[in-house]
Amino acid sequence: MPSFSLRMAHSYSAADLTPFYPSPSSLYSMFCYIRVVLKDPGSVPENWRAVSGEESLEVGTSLAAAEDGFERRSRGGGYCIHCQNGKPPRCHHCSICQRCVLKMDHHCVWVVNCVGACNYKFFLLFLVTWHSSYLILYLDAVLNFAFALSLLCFVVMHASLLSSNTTSVEVHEKKGVIRWKYDLGRKKNFEQVFGTKKSLWLFPLFSEDDLEKIPALHGLEFPTRSDVDA
Ligand SMILES: [Zn+2]
Ligand SMILES: [Zn+2]
Repeated sequence: MPSFSLRMAHSYSAADLTPFYPSPSSLYSMFCYIRVVLKDPGSVPENWRAVSGEESLEVGTSLAAAEDGFERRSRGGGYCIHCQNGKPPRCHHCSICQRCVLKMDHHCVWVVNCVGACNYKFFLLFLVTWHSSYLILYLDAVLNFAFALSLLCFVVMHASLLSSNTTSVEVHEKKGVIRWKYDLGRKKNFEQVFGTKKSLWLFPLFSEDDLEKIPALHGLEFPTRSDVDA
């Protein structure tokens, strides 16, 4: 039967059976996110009015007072013609939510909600936790890059040492020397370390022939320039 064979064809791998466990920090970040989304950023109570009598009346405030008879006196406060209600200080009307939001910070498209007085803390916590998880990735990338760069420098340095048949220690001894005595020319210098068998250059192996003919591979005797010139 085709349906049976089709079902048998799918073999479950270990990855299919391993449940996905989010990290505690990502769970916390998600919790903060949900709180920002669901929490009312702050609504103006119906027929809100300020009662501080000492502050000066603003243009909007006096207009509002004239319109509906309420007395709204609060520095920075006013009246929202859209909501037809008072506007406490630092409150703004959000054109997307179509309502006034207390201490409105901004309308956030990522949380599909306004960020205001009552969910600003949740927003900041979400932002910080979210950022820190990315910061770890960023730092990891920076460290990897720094490590790769230092390795590259090491490779370049050793390529230079190899081409002149010099060890890292001998770099200091060589200073002031016009022609290094072990420098046999690039090709021979290379062979002093890698051997002459091209097929073995990429392997950590030496041919019997090379081991017999290249004393440098045993580390006790080394041909010098004078030997080669002779
Ligand atoms: Zn409004
Ligand atoms: Zn909004």
